[in-house]
Amino acid sequence: MALKPVMLVRPPIEILFDDGFWDELEEAGINEVGIQWLALLDAKGDSPNRYPQPEDTHPRGLAAVGGEPVDWTPGPAYAPNRDLYDGLSYQPQDLPDHMVGLSTKLKLAIENATQRGFTIWTMDDKGYFLSGGFGDGTRKAALTCVNDPDLVGYGIQRARDTAANFPGIHGIILDGPDFKWEIKPGHRDDLFLEECGCRHCQRVAESLGFGYDRVLEGRDAFKTKLQELSNEAVEDFLANRAGLFGSMDWWLEDPALADWMRYKAAVVEQHVKALCNGIHEYLPEMKVATSSRMPSLAPLTGHNLRRKAAFNDFEMPKLYWWSGGVAGWRGTAMNWVDTLVDWNDGLSRENATAWFSAAFDIPIPADYQTADMASEAPDSFFSETVADQIRKMLANAGGPDRFMPWVGLEHFGSNWLTPSELRRLLGQLEAQGAERYSFFVYNEIKPDIWDVITEFSKK
Ligand SMILES: [Zn+2]
Repeated sequence: MALKPVMLVRPPIEILFDDGFWDELEEAGINEVGIQWLALLDAKGDSPNRYPQPEDTHPRGLAAVGGEPVDWTPGPAYAPNRDLYDGLSYQPQDLPDHMVGLSTKLKLAIENATQRGFTIWTMDDKGYFLSGGFGDGTRKAALTCVNDPDLVGYGIQRARDTAANFPGIHGIILDGPDFKWEIKPGHRDDLFLEECGCRHCQRVAESLGFGYDRVLEGRDAFKTKLQELSNEAVEDFLANRAGLFGSMDWWLEDPALADWMRYKAAVVEQHVKALCNGIHEYLPEMKVATSSRMPSLAPLTGHNLRRKAAFNDFEMPKLYWWSGGVAGWRGTAMNWVDTLVDWNDGLSRENATAWFSAAFDIPIPADYQTADMASEAPDSFFSETVADQIRKMLANAGGPDRFMPWVGLEHFGSNWLTPSELRRLLGQLEAQGAERYSFFVYNEIKPDIWDVITEFSKK
């Protein structure tokens, strides 16, 4: 059975105007495309950025902007129906007059693709919107709390608007929200720096029976626990804290710890559930896919995949395995072990690794310790660590029919997965019965990576 990607394309999504792009996918047996983000590049916009982005070396990306890199602004792909957003504090941008022709061209490209038999997904633009909107940086400060009900309202209406403008769209991919998961001081995803505490956060905490201060108290108690890891404490943890009740005991030793975890789970669930249910209410045919980190990291980020399965159509855990940069599992494992050793005088690297492996319930091969993880992984990493996480994410998502994991090579200056590593990763997915994944992202594919993807998609 073939293992096929949903091929994600990011700006310049003008790549979709190129018939050769669709021919190439069809020839490779690939019949699904995800548009991430649904944004057209505006030469006259006021927040210009370089496109294609430096790592996006696919020739079609360069061709889509005229053969030379440009400094343009990602802007709206269609004119919004203002009535939908009535009463919401967030509003999408208007489509400038000079972009109307391009918007029509995009609608035709998507219509043609669906007529050719392609299934088209799009990302919600909430994330883009949160990081400053489509060129509208002035809104940024007001748009940072995931507990604001207007944000969910905006996401639902945006889905309706997108569906009305692009009737061929089959599904919407929701990315995040995630609570942070790193502990290395100063890291982008340092969980101890995460703080909002606005009235919306306060309301969610109170709905659980405590105040937002209690959430921070629990988070700080977690840090204290991590800073009390002597070799003896680790050996005690490994010998005496396993099992359902053993680990529950660990959390309840300081009940603020458990309250912190409950808060995060409640925040993520209420946001994602309201979005999924709202989209389904207006658009019963629309598929909604929700995203999450690896099973080992998901609870810390607030995601309970089995509960999410009650209201999503697909789960998309992130099979992000690179080191360095951000968001890759090998980088996270290295950061955790390094930081635990830094924080605890005398703690051996071996014990820091053993604690991490036990706490996150993930095997780390004897021949590939975190100190080695900036270099190419041996087969044991794929057959032990990667296989373990794929098995758990497939089970948590509810089986292959509901499973569409993200597969990517890199993020923001990280090391890249090699073609051989990608082949072994896809091999594990195939061996466990996965049928599809979403490849992030077409724009950066080089020929040796394309060869690996098509080895699996053409079967
Ligand atoms: Zn808040």
